[in-house]
Amino acid sequence: MRLDRFLSETSPLTRSLAKRALKNGEVTLNGEPIKQSATQIDTDNDVVVLNGERLALVGIRYIMLHKPVDVECNARRGLYPRVIDLIDLPKAERLQPVGRLDVDTTGLLLLTDDGHWSHRVTSPRHRCGKVYIAELAEPMEGSAADWAINQVADGLMLDGEETLTQPAVLRLLSPTQAELTITEGRYHQVKRMFAALGNHVNSLHRSSIGDVALDENLAPGEWRELTEAEIASF
Ligand code: URA
Repeated sequence: MRLDRFLSETSPLTRSLAKRALKNGEVTLNGEPIKQSATQIDTDNDVVVLNGERLALVGIRYIMLHKPVDVECNARRGLYPRVIDLIDLPKAERLQPVGRLDVDTTGLLLLTDDGHWSHRVTSPRHRCGKVYIAELAEPMEGSAADWAINQVADGLMLDGEETLTQPAVLRLLSPTQAELTITEGRYHQVKRMFAALGNHVNSLHRSSIGDVALDENLAPGEWRELTEAEIASF
């Protein structure tokens, strides 16, 4: 790989800033100062150092983030900070959220630069269960709760849609706190499912996706890499 490209892949520098850093003598190759952008390097064996820091290519990454409120999953900058702004890794902008959470939803968000893996997690064909905890505006008890549980199990018709939601599992943790497990990812699905049941979601938190649960050691805004077992579980 060309040295200027290697620098732009492994540091915050753009290709033109990499060329400038080379000209300014900020780079060494195997201990020797180097200025030629076009130098071909062996990315496995050559040692490239920029201002004292050894650089290495970024591999494929798998991240779990405890998404806080008022942070959005969009790649473009908008009204709120972006989830990738919370990930202090080189080239974090290459990470894509695996499915989305609304700006006011908290909890487990996976991010990766592995498109195939992301597809396995999100494709409805794989029926990967996503568990949400919803705080509800209207208490659900007794026969009304039983009715709601059955409706969710049979599938709901959401406003503006033409097909029923896939069978899902509703469990009441208290009259105003519900756990809902769904295997699809329609737009605002959980909030719209509770709306279809005549209720309203006051706050929403995702606690797990498939066999991967949000690590309870992560405070809102914190992240960690997935373990090998978590990656392989999808
Ligand atoms: N369903 C919603 O309504 N919102 C989310 O953020 C995720 C699922």
